Amino acid sequence: MELIFRDDPYQKSCSAKVVSAEGNAIRLDRTVFYPMGGGQPGDTGVLRLADGSELRVVDARKGEGPDDVLHIAEDGAALPAAGSEVEAEIDWDRRHRLMRMHTCMHLLCSVITGDVTGGQVGDGKSRLDFNLPDTQLDKEAITAALNRLVEEDHPVRPRWITDEELEAEPQLVRTMSVKPPMGAGKVRLLEIEGVDLQPCGGTHVRSTGEIGPIRVGKIENKGRQNRRVNIHLIE
Ligand SMILES: [Zn+2]
Repeated sequence: MELIFRDDPYQKSCSAKVVSAEGNAIRLDRTVFYPMGGGQPGDTGVLRLADGSELRVVDARKGEGPDDVLHIAEDGAALPAAGSEVEAEIDWDRRHRLMRMHTCMHLLCSVITGDVTGGQVGDGKSRLDFNLPDTQLDKEAITAALNRLVEEDHPVRPRWITDEELEAEPQLVRTMSVKPPMGAGKVRLLEIEGVDLQPCGGTHVRSTGEIGPIRVGKIENKGRQNRRVNIHLIE
C-alpha cells in the first residue's frame, strides 16, 4: 500500500482501488488516511464510489504489515467490491488540527527535559507525560517557551536514517513507551530545525508558525514519576 501522508501530509484526497473489504475494514492500494499510532488518532473521512455514493470512514487503523492501513467503515455500511475505484478523502480540518497539535508535542519535548513516558494527541487538546520525579514545572515559563518557538517559525521536515545509524545515536529516542519501528532497515526521523530531532511516523505541519498560539492547561501529578502536561490550541 502506498502511504501518501508520509511524503505529503497536506494531500487531502486520492484516487485508489479497493484491494479487499471484509467485516468493516477496507484496504486500498494507496491512501491519504493516517492510521492510529504514535499517540496520533486515525483519520476519519469518506470513500466516494463511482456511482457517486459516499461511505463514511470513522477510523483508520494499522493492519498486519508495516504499511497496511484498514479504513474502518461506519456500522451497517455496504462495502465496495474488491477492484472498485474510489476517491478517498480525509476530514481535512480535523487532520490539520491534529498536525498542528502533533508538531507542538515535539516542541514540548524540546522545552522540558526528561524522558517521555506517554502521550496522546487529540483534536485541539493533547498531553505528554514526563518522568520527572523531583521537578516542579513552571507553567508560565513553558507557555512562553512554546509560543516563542511557534513565533520563530522553524522549518519542520522528515528524513530517514538506517537502523544502524539510530543504534549509534540512542539519545535520539526520547519516548520510553513508544519504540521506533526498527527492522525495516530505515527509520523516519522528524526534524524541527534547531529545536528537535527524533524518530516519528506521524503527520506534522511544514513550519512551527502554522501551529498558531497555544495554551498550557493543567500540569498534573500522575504517580511518583509522572508529570502530565496538557496543551490546547487557541482558536
Ligand atoms: Zn511527530
